[in-house]
Formats: sequence, structure tokens, C-alpha cells
Amino acid sequence: MKNRVFSDDEIKAALAEFKKMQIDGDLSFCPRCGEKRMRSVVTHNCLSRQADVYVCEVCGAEEAIYAMKGCPLPLDYWHYTGLMEMRQAPTDNPAAK
Ligand SMILES: [Zn+2]
Repeated sequence: MKNRVFSDDEIKAALAEFKKMQIDGDLSFCPRCGEKRMRSVVTHNCLSRQADVYVCEVCGAEEAIYAMKGCPLPLDYWHYTGLMEMRQAPTDNPAAK
């Protein structure tokens, strides 16, 4: 069991904030897997089932399968949460952008 730094609510709040950045054009990486495969038009990506944020097509498909099995990937294991733990998430210092 991972030692939790952030609660699900904190992670979801940061992801909702990141979604605003995505809508403003920051599609540099997928917040779930960290891969640089987001589509250039934000709405052409997948809206996550777990948090109010866009994820890449691969993660969108994986979430659908996991949801069907009833075992979603915990938010702790998202790439974005790792960035938050290292204080390197885009939402940690939005003024610096
Ligand atoms: Zn992804």
C-alpha cells in the first residue's frame, strides 16, 4: 500500500485545475500515463471517468475496460499525482507558466 501524500479530493481538485490549462492549450502530456500523445484539439481526447480532466485515447480505452471490471486505476498511481508529490505538477506553480 502506497503511503498517501494527497487525498483523492486533492488530486481531483488539481486535475480539474489542470483541465482548465488543457482547454487553454496545454496538451503536452496525458495526466494519467504521462505520455505525450494528447490530440491537439482538447475535445478530441477522452474525458476521464475518474476525474474531471482529459486523458489520452489509450488511457480512455483502458479506463473503460477497468471500469467494466470494477477496478479503476487509483488516482495515486496517475502520472500527475507523481508530479504533485515532486511539486512539479503544472498546477503547483501556475504563475510560472
Ligand atoms: Zn494516457
